[in-house]
Amino acid sequence: MLVSAKEMLNKAKAGKYAVGQFNINNLEWTKAILLTAEELKSPVILGVSEGAGKYMCGYTTVVGMVNGMINELGITVPVALHLDHGSYEGAKKCIEAGFSSVMFDGSHYPIEENIAKTKELVKICEEKGLSLEAEVGAIGGEEDGVIGSGEVADPEECKMIADLGVTMLAAGIGNIHGKYPENWAGLSFDTLDAIQQLTGTMPLVLHGGTGIPADMIQKAISLGVSKINVNTECQLAFAAATREYVEAGKDLQGKGFDPRKLLAPGFEAIKATVKEKMELFGSVGKA
Ligand SMILES: [Zn+2]
Repeated sequence: MLVSAKEMLNKAKAGKYAVGQFNINNLEWTKAILLTAEELKSPVILGVSEGAGKYMCGYTTVVGMVNGMINELGITVPVALHLDHGSYEGAKKCIEAGFSSVMFDGSHYPIEENIAKTKELVKICEEKGLSLEAEVGAIGGEEDGVIGSGEVADPEECKMIADLGVTMLAAGIGNIHGKYPENWAGLSFDTLDAIQQLTGTMPLVLHGGTGIPADMIQKAISLGVSKINVNTECQLAFAAATREYVEAGKDLQGKGFDPRKLLAPGFEAIKATVKEKMELFGSVGKA
């Protein structure tokens, strides 16, 4: 059964570790992440972007697939199904479809509008027992072209949004989605520290987890980060393993073209990546 991310993240914040959000794209992705979480007895958050939701034929398809897998694979660890960077409309659709957690990314709105829309969603999520993630200070990405560092959130604005009653808060601290540029300035720990001072026990979320060095991840966790989003890293691992299989000509040998064989190395690569992250985040054995 799907659960809200609230309890797992409050526990993580108190216990000074982080729960990974791993974004899913299809059946193989979902199965690899769920099985790894179960093997390692780690709580887990499955992230679904609006684009990935569309790709997987809509939110109700995603909910059906995930619930079916939890049941058929005998998954006992806490699993939250979470909308990643949702629009206001997208969040409402996911709530209706049966997601257990949503992110409303109002970071591109003026702060007053971000607050108004977040408030409405806080009310809906509270009524239904779902977790809600809000964002302050847009997190940069490769679609914006060349960037030296991601945006840095205003700690006072973070407090304003945290006080609305959201479950967890994503704040830009120089992190970026996708691959980090060579000249990246690193995470702003002063900002993170200031945000934590003002938001207290609120679990903080670090987006763009791919390529942030392990020591920075651990420092971020020590300063209140309790949820870390991983997306690109699983994609890179899957692509590399699939490339290796094809380049070795294995799809041309015997029944190597069978999708269950063709996709197996990528599946294993996702499992290995998720395991590595859960170990780094400290969530192993915390379910
Ligand atoms: Zn993000």
